[in-house]
Order: sequence, then C-alpha cells, then structure tokens
Amino acid sequence: MQGSIRYEGGSIYLEEVGPEHTIVRYELKKLLYSRQTPYQRVEIADSYDYGRMLILDGCVNVSERDEANYHEMIAHVPALLYPHPESVLVVGGGDGGTVRELLKHDGMRRIDVVEIDAEVVAACKRFFPSLASSFDDPRVHVYNEDGTEFVQRAQSSKYSVVIVDSSDPIGPAEGLFTRDFYQSCHRILDDNGIVVAQSESPYVYPGILKQVYDLFNEIFNAVYPYHISVPTYPSGQIYMMMGLKDAGDTEQFVDSQVQNFFSNHKAGLKYLTPDILKGIFQLPGDVRKVLRG
Ligand code: SAM
Repeated sequence: MQGSIRYEGGSIYLEEVGPEHTIVRYELKKLLYSRQTPYQRVEIADSYDYGRMLILDGCVNVSERDEANYHEMIAHVPALLYPHPESVLVVGGGDGGTVRELLKHDGMRRIDVVEIDAEVVAACKRFFPSLASSFDDPRVHVYNEDGTEFVQRAQSSKYSVVIVDSSDPIGPAEGLFTRDFYQSCHRILDDNGIVVAQSESPYVYPGILKQVYDLFNEIFNAVYPYHISVPTYPSGQIYMMMGLKDAGDTEQFVDSQVQNFFSNHKAGLKYLTPDILKGIFQLPGDVRKVLRG
C-alpha cells in the first residue's frame, strides 16, 4: 500500500492507494505531527470519522476508533490458547496497543518489544497515551532495533508467545515476512510456544497471505489463520497467521482460563467475546481458495 496526505480547497485528506486501482480517502481535521525518520515517514492526524490516526509512509497503522479490534485479537488469541504465558516477544508494535492488552493476563512476567523506530514509540507516548503508557510498566522492555536481527540473537526457547505486530512488507518490515525470520521465531519459542503474525488481507495482498501460510506450514506443526474486522485496513479486514510449535490438540482453548479472563476483563474489552473464540478458526470459502492457491 502507498499513500499520502493532500491539501485540497482548504481541506486535508489522507489517500491510500491499493490494490492498484482502489483509493481509500479519509478527510482529516488536523495534521498533528509529521517527521521523516531513518525508516519511514511518521504522521499523526486527527480524522473526522476514526479519531486520531498513526500513519506510517502514508498508510493508517492505528486509529483510535478501531484499534481495539486489532490489538485485542492479536494479543488475546495466543495468550488464551497458551496455558498461562509468562514471557512474550512483540516484534514491531511501537504504538503500545498489543502490550496494553498482553498486560491484562495474570502471571505475565516479561514482555520484550523490539520496535525498529524509536520515533514511533516517542510520538505514540505523546499522542496515544492510552496505548503507549503500557511501555511504562516495569515488566515491559523496549529495544529499538530491527526485529530480524533481534530474533537471530535471542536465546532458544525463551518465549511462550511471539507476536509479529508489523507494518506492511514494504520498507523496514520486509524482512519480517521471510522464512529466515519465521524460523528464528520457531527457535526462540518454548516447546508449547505460539507465534502470531500480521499477514495482510486476502483482498489486497492474497499473494502475501498465501506465502505466509505456506512458510508457516513448512516451519510449524499446526497452522491456524484467523480473521479480524478492522475498518481502517484496506478491504476492512486483516488475517493473522498463528503457528503452534507442538501440534497436540493445543488449538483447544482451556475453558477455565478463558472464563477467568473474561470475568476479570468484561468491562475492558471492546471487540473480543467468548463466542468469537468459539468459531475463530473457521475460514470462509474464498479465503480457503486463496490459501489452496
Ligand atoms: N497495526 C499495524 C498495522 O499492521 O498497520 C501495525 C502497527 S505497529 C505501529 C507496526 C510497527 O512495526 C511500526 O511502528 C514499525 O516501525 C515497526 N517495524 C517495521 N519494521 C520493523 C522491523 N524490521 N523490526 C522491528 N519493528 C519494525
């Protein structure tokens, strides 16, 4: 995806282009922050329909209105499937939303975040405090470096869960969609470990979704893609690819863990419900077709 902010007749618009002949356009109230970092253009704007937006290289990465959909689903599905995770690695995720959700799990001891761009973290602390204040928790350790290098060096079997909360595979995130990277993720997971990776939309990037699915099937014992409805993603939806190191019957959620979590966090969750979890690994026919190739 590509995009840019434009000024027309006294109004400001963000236009995202992609796939090639589709343009999605948001009218913005105000551009609040804009900086070119060594990795990408980082912009934060206030929009009419979606509240504040974090825009990286012209593409919406987070919006206040629908961020909960994405962050609850990327964090809680693996954290509820793994029996009481204690140690999690988040690759990317510089807005802090995924960490905020992970901290809702009892027993979480340590969350490492490897975010390449320190400017994203600093800007989100200023403009999205409800997400990025999670970085102030003493269990959270932020490393500003390339996730591909971090996982190569990381100790084997260190993490219960690895979450790849990356931007699109153009620019700095390209290496986060490769066989080498996913193999390192597999190595640093413990025997019951689970990885979840952002793997794009079957309508916008069907080739990437299929490529990630195939790589996961080569590397992990069991693979479960699942869907999230996110209106500010092009096509309104995004898929997560989940890989389990141990095939077992670990795709079964532990009822007591799920019940306990939802009774504690009833008021705090906006999107995920226990009923969504029941059907989470069911795939529509058109997506099955993309994955079959
Ligand atoms: N919800 C988002 C999306 O998919 O649009 C992802 C949000 S999060 C802000 C994505 C983060 O990944 C960005 O802050 C970006 O700087 C970071 N990132 C991109 N490439 C990376 C890399 N190679 N290593 C670590 N972080 C990376």
